[in-house]
Amino acid sequence: MAAHILLVEDEVKLARFVELELSSEGYHTSVAHDGIEGLTLARESSPDLMILDWMLPGLSGVEVCRRLRATGNKVPVILLTAKDEVSDRVAGLDAGADDYLVKPFSIEELLARVRAHLRRTQEVDRDVLQFEDLSLNRRTREVFRGKRAIELTAKEFDLLDYLLSHPRQVYTRDQILERVWGYDFGGDSNIIEVYVRYLRLKLEENNEKRLIHTVRGVGYVLRE
Ligand code: CA
Repeated sequence: MAAHILLVEDEVKLARFVELELSSEGYHTSVAHDGIEGLTLARESSPDLMILDWMLPGLSGVEVCRRLRATGNKVPVILLTAKDEVSDRVAGLDAGADDYLVKPFSIEELLARVRAHLRRTQEVDRDVLQFEDLSLNRRTREVFRGKRAIELTAKEFDLLDYLLSHPRQVYTRDQILERVWGYDFGGDSNIIEVYVRYLRLKLEENNEKRLIHTVRGVGYVLRE
């Protein structure tokens, strides 16, 4: 799916030029021409990245950035500006911008930074698996059903991680044994059933709907 980039720039010709370049790179691009509109669009459309001009009518780019961060919005922000003083850079970064590009900039440099920031957020995203109201964080090893934190043992976590890595894909019992237990597997073929039962108890503790389903004679699948 194409990344969605929100460009907030009041210089119409520059905005049009950058928008065309971004679109030709395959990004889905939206444009706002003042700070208020930019802030509104950022909140409503949840872009994957923002390119934000500093000097904007209505609300400055730095102020837009500060307000987004104040409400916990973590969208990567590249700030564009004609300012080139160290104190300005610091102010921009203090407001929560991730990067800073001084006008006039080369479009190649802007595109390279866009790619770098998108790559970084996508890497973070791979650590978080999500399906319906269930989420699993591979780095913190936290599991949530909605807002409810779920404590899992190491093996339960590994089993859920495997099923959650490809929702709707049916895994055979052999695949699960090999991937989750590997050499730890002591020959008890009921082990999967036992662990699936534990997982279901924990995931459905508040009568949440079942996500781990048995595919009779084959194995298991995570689906609605
Ligand atoms: Ca401007």
